[in-house]
Amino acid sequence: MQTLRASKCGLSTAQLPSSILDVIDALTKAGYEAYIVGGGVRDLMLGLNPKDFDAVTNATPSQVKEVFGRRCRIIGRRFELAHVYSGRELIEVATFRAPPKKAVTSAAGMILRDNNWGTIEQDFARRDFSINAMYYQPRKGIVLDFCNAYEDIKAKKLSLLGDPMLRFEEDPVRMLRTLRFAAKLNFSIDQSILDVFTPETAQLLRDVSPHRLYDESQKLFTMGHLNRVMPMLIEFEIWHQLFADIQPNITPFIERAAKNTDQRISIGKTINPAFFYAVLLWKPFLERCEFYAKKGVVAAEARAQAGLDVLKRQATRTVIPRFAETFIREVWEMQTRLLNPKPQQIEALSGHARFRAGFDFLLLREKSGDQTTQGMGVWWDTYQTLSTDEKERAIADYNRQRAKGRRKGATQEDIKPLHQVQQAEIEPLVNEPEPRSRRARKAKQQADFKAQAVNGGNDQITADHPILKRKRVKRDLSTVIFGPTQ
Ligand code: ATP
Ligand code: MG
Repeated sequence: MQTLRASKCGLSTAQLPSSILDVIDALTKAGYEAYIVGGGVRDLMLGLNPKDFDAVTNATPSQVKEVFGRRCRIIGRRFELAHVYSGRELIEVATFRAPPKKAVTSAAGMILRDNNWGTIEQDFARRDFSINAMYYQPRKGIVLDFCNAYEDIKAKKLSLLGDPMLRFEEDPVRMLRTLRFAAKLNFSIDQSILDVFTPETAQLLRDVSPHRLYDESQKLFTMGHLNRVMPMLIEFEIWHQLFADIQPNITPFIERAAKNTDQRISIGKTINPAFFYAVLLWKPFLERCEFYAKKGVVAAEARAQAGLDVLKRQATRTVIPRFAETFIREVWEMQTRLLNPKPQQIEALSGHARFRAGFDFLLLREKSGDQTTQGMGVWWDTYQTLSTDEKERAIADYNRQRAKGRRKGATQEDIKPLHQVQQAEIEPLVNEPEPRSRRARKAKQQADFKAQAVNGGNDQITADHPILKRKRVKRDLSTVIFGPTQ
């Protein structure tokens, strides 16, 4: 073990937010050891802006709770942690961990529960990469380095602690972390890792829950180097483990979207990680639409069903949360609306909550050479820059073009009569699927009634109407006569 002077490694308390210092100080004052560990220390040493700071201590989660009282919540089962709120920030405080006991690993060697408290030496050994295992005590101005991590930082090299094969078996997600850090930090991967990182090893990811894989995929999408990591996912045959039906082929559209995502992150803009899923799944979605079209299903229905199918298949690898699924389907549905908008809906469409994402998607398609957008990406791009008068003219021009097209039989969309133009409403982009749980269904039903009452739909029934409060009576089926339709 070597003790480094923090100042020699480019670290100083001035770089730290008061929240992490507050946590370290409070634990120290209560008589515990406390350090900053992980990505925060690593990134500061590399001159990067850390995403967050994690703390580690010899206090158990319940002792941490005693120190911080109501500012602290204990979370996690597989991996118990204390969440401490400091001002508006949240700091994760982990307890030193010893190697897990045999009984809590799966047949494949995967760690299922990891709450065996230990010493700092044991704690360091169970971290993943050397560069993630440095312990920084900011008040003492020292960094404890148990594994020559600082040398790896200088050599820009990723080394796993311990035997790489064993470490991948314990937690296959470390393979994803290897590629993520290699791409994010532009580090090389140590030969001992490359030796075992085979397509067979990649298959270990099959045992990881699709929920955890979704979280990891989000981290890959939002780290700012998506474009660099994608070829690596293909090279190491991780791609198939993450994406069910997406060909391991970086199309111009995917590449452009990835670059765009990275650029947005580099200038501090927000991104919605579900957007990149919408990009990745676009081709499978179109193919599925085609499949239904060939069966003679009406276009709108084919799109709805195709969207559901594609997302369901993807959920076998990464479970996309419901709100993100809805976002993705809405972005896809927007493509149809934006490609062939009804003239009287154009202005309303441009104010739609999903317009921005749908338009960005359309423009990315167009700029990456997709001619099926028929130039509508640029049309909308220009439209948004016009004055009200110019917009009216643009719509009139568009309308004429559209009518010409219709005369040629290009489109069969119906145009609303003029008296409806003023209040042109846009139908919902996708119909929200029914909530899964009974309680959620009931809440939705009540909310729907409420909305109906507000809209004057049925002003007799409100959310607290007795009809909604009645208990379901269980019918005795032996007394029910089943008719032909039942
Ligand atoms: P970043 O937050 O920039 O993505 P990080 O290194 O801080 O990177 P976290 O996921 O926040 O990553 O984890 C914090 C620390 O916990 C890591 O630096 C590492 O020491 C340890 N750690 C996290 N995940 C694992 C894992 N799967 N196996 C072993 N150690 C891990
Ligand atoms: Mg972190």
